[in-house]
Amino acid sequence: MSETGTLECKGCGRPLPAHHAPFIGDERYNLWAREGYCTYLCFRERAPRRLAEIEDELERRREEWMSAAQAAPERVEEARPVEERRIGSVGARILARLADTALGAAAVWGASCLLAGRPLAAGRDGGVEGADQAIDRLLDSALLRSWSDWRAPVAWVLGSVAFFSICHALAGATPAKLLLGMKVAREEAGRPGFGRALVRELLFPVDVAFLGLIAFACMAAGDEKQRLGDFAARTVVVRAAGERRALAGRVFGAAALGLIVWLGVGLAL
Ligand SMILES: [Zn+2]
Repeated sequence: MSETGTLECKGCGRPLPAHHAPFIGDERYNLWAREGYCTYLCFRERAPRRLAEIEDELERRREEWMSAAQAAPERVEEARPVEERRIGSVGARILARLADTALGAAAVWGASCLLAGRPLAAGRDGGVEGADQAIDRLLDSALLRSWSDWRAPVAWVLGSVAFFSICHALAGATPAKLLLGMKVAREEAGRPGFGRALVRELLFPVDVAFLGLIAFACMAAGDEKQRLGDFAARTVVVRAAGERRALAGRVFGAAALGLIVWLGVGLAL
């Protein structure tokens, strides 16, 4: 740093352009910028030892990852070095969110109808009184109310927040994310856990407000395509196509639990 506050190349001392600040991304392609040199050539010329050190380190990590991948192919994404992980595409994420929401809502709505309808069938034998009670119960589930009643939107929103949080916390993925080969991970790798999964979901409505403008602006700002919820929760959506089989049981178990909680929210309200 010079007296005027501009950055200088550590090798040749020339002032660096303002946009030269080390950026996040694949270490192999901008390690000279991270190290404070003006160009790759300048870095190679002035600090050949440091360059060799970094290249050895990257090679060592790559070899570690390759041997981990060979030992357990289903854990390949988990073992991939953080700077080499692959980020889930925005299109696939939108598709997964729509599919999960539609299928989850359909399952919960169907289950509400079935639950409300069961006493209706029993009520036929029980006479008019039983049938009336059954109809009352049918109309009473928050998930089956008209949206002019505040309980209906609250039940749908709270229920879906619970569903997504439970799936991400327990399994890292929802069914549609898994099928599209993605999962939510901590920035530093690993499943997000309840706290981060919940923070991420609570900010989802903010992200999708104004036609998703906030989410798109945030995702465009970094290589990791984090929406506001991801920034706050320190999570990333990574590719996990190689883990489909390993995660399937856990994801579908978590999704079943999530749907039960969603339904429970509807019945409780
Ligand atoms: Zn230089």
